[in-house]
Amino acid sequence: MYPPGADTVLVRHADVGVKSGKVQTEMERRLRDNLAALLDSRGVDADVERRWSRLLVHADEKNVDAATDAAADTFGVRSASAAVVVDPDLDAIRSALADAARTLYDGDTFAVRARRADKSLPFTSEDVERQGGEAVWNAVDDPAVDLEDPDTTFRVEVRESEAFVFVEKQAGPGGLPLGSQAPVVGLVSGGIDSPVALWEVMKRGSPVVPVYLDLGDYGGPDHEARAMETVRRLSAYAPNFDVTVRKVPAGDVMDLLVEEVGPARMLVYRRFMYRVAEHVARDVDACGIVTGEAIGQKSSQTARNLGVTSAATDLPVHRPLLTMDKTEITDRARDIGTFRDSTIPAGCNRVAPDFPETNATLGIVENAEPDDLFKRAREAAANVELVDV
Ligand code: ATP
Ligand code: MG
Repeated sequence: MYPPGADTVLVRHADVGVKSGKVQTEMERRLRDNLAALLDSRGVDADVERRWSRLLVHADEKNVDAATDAAADTFGVRSASAAVVVDPDLDAIRSALADAARTLYDGDTFAVRARRADKSLPFTSEDVERQGGEAVWNAVDDPAVDLEDPDTTFRVEVRESEAFVFVEKQAGPGGLPLGSQAPVVGLVSGGIDSPVALWEVMKRGSPVVPVYLDLGDYGGPDHEARAMETVRRLSAYAPNFDVTVRKVPAGDVMDLLVEEVGPARMLVYRRFMYRVAEHVARDVDACGIVTGEAIGQKSSQTARNLGVTSAATDLPVHRPLLTMDKTEITDRARDIGTFRDSTIPAGCNRVAPDFPETNATLGIVENAEPDDLFKRAREAAANVELVDV
């Protein structure tokens, strides 16, 4: 919902604002570049400008909607508003508010809220609210004011050389601009969890290098297709970043584990997986491993077992979904657009043992695992295949 004549998007950043001067400038530039790339990838013809502590997207009336959506999909953005831009004087603001009210006021209650960033202006934000409120009041039939909890809020942000009039703040993901942190490796299986985990880390600024373990007969073409599709969805959030998938052969190891390892099988498999991820990380200069694990979600993810599997690598294992319930993760997957691909039936064969270990110690797992497990991980990682999604 935006006022008639809106052609500009006012973009507010999230955690970028808590940084000190130089870091903040650098992050704002990065945010601008990322948003410009996203607009470009969606075919939205608009320019992004850094102004004050905001970004301004100069669009036009036809694509302002698409430009606002793009801003709200950019990591590091707190909110975005499609606005009409007028001169910073009370007459112009009043008239823009009256126009906005005539098209947007839905007959319930309203309020006008103003913010005046430039204190040298000859009027206060209270003046804008009072006079703007009067303009709205006079423009519509049966107006009603509610300053506490209005149904429609008409907003004005006044700067030195222009005023922005808008009604909605479309929420962005928050976080930090992608690329403002070091890269991490992301273990992606294409299930519901792992794409969400990768997205969460991207939201905090770290580009993700996706790693997919090909389980041979235990995975299969649909399993792989699912993983690739979800990565493709994620890559749409990062058009100016390389998201080539590292596909690592792991079918032989799975065969071996199914044959030789009993209750600790899944833990051994996970340790193998982290080792593979560690090798890839060293190759691409990434500084951590991301997984979609959550405490207690599966037997291999009990609080104790997470500790035992993490011990296979020196790199930190990041688990952004650690405390989330499946329903929360599923909701997030729907929001970010990976859910549907995650539910492609993958028909993967059962590899979990009948009575999985839930309370392992490092000793139990080390005893159960093949002596050459980590050597196999190194060899598997050396046979990595690059898959462009
Ligand atoms: P997801 O957790 O993605 O929904 P899942 O529930 O089938 O998939 P789990 O058995 O819960 O997978 O595995 C836990 C985590 O291990 C996944 O979130 C993912 O990070 C990683 N993982 C599992 N299988 C693979 C694989 N074949 N390739 C890469 N990473 C994997
Ligand atoms: Mg899972």
